[in-house]
Amino acid sequence: MNDIDIIKSYYSGDELKIALEKYESGIPAAYIIGEWEFFGDRYYVNEDCLIPRCDTERVVEKVLSCINGSKTIADICTGSGCIAISVLKRKTEAVGLAIDISSNAIEAAKKNAEINNVSDRLEFICADIFSDPLGDKKFDIIISNPPYIRTDVLDSLDEYVKKEPVIALDGGDDGMMFYNYIVTNCKKNLKQNGIFIFEIGYDQEDSIKLLAKQNGFDCEITKDYSGNPRVALLK
Ligand code: GLN
Repeated sequence: MNDIDIIKSYYSGDELKIALEKYESGIPAAYIIGEWEFFGDRYYVNEDCLIPRCDTERVVEKVLSCINGSKTIADICTGSGCIAISVLKRKTEAVGLAIDISSNAIEAAKKNAEINNVSDRLEFICADIFSDPLGDKKFDIIISNPPYIRTDVLDSLDEYVKKEPVIALDGGDDGMMFYNYIVTNCKKNLKQNGIFIFEIGYDQEDSIKLLAKQNGFDCEITKDYSGNPRVALLK
């Protein structure tokens, strides 16, 4: 379904008219209806969360393929919580920690954990990842879909994407700011044989491979549904 059909499936009459006007004015459908589908589940979203993307489902698939038994996961820059929650929902022995700098995003993620029945296995921290909120905690898998758009590209993004929180998109001058920090500073937070799984931008394969190499990791790339590099696994 396209965005307009999705809006039509939620509203009728005057409400539909108002919703379509909002959409025409550039407000993303997910923010109008207040929820979005991801990996077959419903997620509550607000304007402080990046809208869950289907390309990000490839990240979840990769994580699921790497988990057996009671693994611990951390999801850095969790936003709506969609990655951590969809993983825990399908891996009932796993437990997780989800981190985001935005308290509104954390509120949405907590609500989503409740809706999806994983609240008892998912902890939340509202903190800036650059302040080392993981401390000395250790995880089997550290996952992140961090902001990764280059700052100079932000202006040229689609009008709808520009309605999403810029702090969820802006990856700094080269788009690599979050990966650089996470790989160098959070490798101490990986258990022995622990791995990182990242969503990356379509043009970041070489940069992430270099960063992995510099930090002693092998890097495997998986493509998204459009054939672009999208998931990086560092081990
Ligand atoms: N994939 C998103 C986009 O194309 C960006 C997500 C991110 O920066 N993590 O808009």
